[in-house]
Amino acid sequence: MAGIVVVFDFDKTIIDCDSDNWVVDDLGGTDLFNELLPTMPWNTLMDKMMKELHSQGRTIEEIVECLQRAPLIPQIISTIKSAHALGCELKILSDANLFFIETILKHHGLMDYFSEINTNPGFVDEGRLRIFPYHDFISCPHGCDLCPPNMCKGFVIEKIRASAFAEGKKRFFYLGDGKGDYCPSLKLGGNDYVLPRKNYPLWELISNNPSLLKANIYGWSNGEELEQILIHLLEKTIVEETSLNNSSAMISNDWKFQTMPISNHEPTPQALPVQN
Ligand SMILES: [Mg+2]
Ligand SMILES: [Zn+2]
Repeated sequence: MAGIVVVFDFDKTIIDCDSDNWVVDDLGGTDLFNELLPTMPWNTLMDKMMKELHSQGRTIEEIVECLQRAPLIPQIISTIKSAHALGCELKILSDANLFFIETILKHHGLMDYFSEINTNPGFVDEGRLRIFPYHDFISCPHGCDLCPPNMCKGFVIEKIRASAFAEGKKRFFYLGDGKGDYCPSLKLGGNDYVLPRKNYPLWELISNNPSLLKANIYGWSNGEELEQILIHLLEKTIVEETSLNNSSAMISNDWKFQTMPISNHEPTPQALPVQN
């Protein structure tokens, strides 16, 4: 098992659309959504929209059928399967909701590749889909200025890192596109990687001042590029980790000759410049 955790955002990173907009638009709720958005947080509005659509007679089956039609990022299925086959632990960190994400992952046979889905609760209650915030922002606000009230992804990534470190997993990859992916990107360390989707808000935020991030930054503009970059970096990281483990094993075995550092002969990829 590689000591690597790969954390995927969901909307516009695994699927090639925003699942909330996809469902609201498909079920005819766009005008009401736009009218109410200035009056309440997005996550609260999604719960309200599901109530409205339910009262208009739209069913859970229609929502499921709509989610099953959501387009995936090309090659994301093989990217996920390859990363898993390399022994990485895969997790999702998303500001969508559990019902949307599980419905889509199940439809594409991807549920078993992820050890954890961190997102807003979403479940069916008497035929109506309920969507709740990840953080109870009324009784216990997260206090992060970068993030929406319902979810601070930076808070969650710190939780994920703490439990992964406890299991001996030390390297993190984060893939995302949106504004909400900036906070967790700032939390990663110098041995970690952030893969922002080029020309999307996360990329723009990072480009404004790349030196604020400790992690290595590699942009991608389509699924093919994402797969190439991610799998290459994972393989390189696995070689590095194996070398480290081998040299520490030699030291702990108290060998009599001096251990030589095992060099990685693979050419080191250059970090892609984040400027356009
Ligand atoms: Mg996203
Ligand atoms: Zn935050």
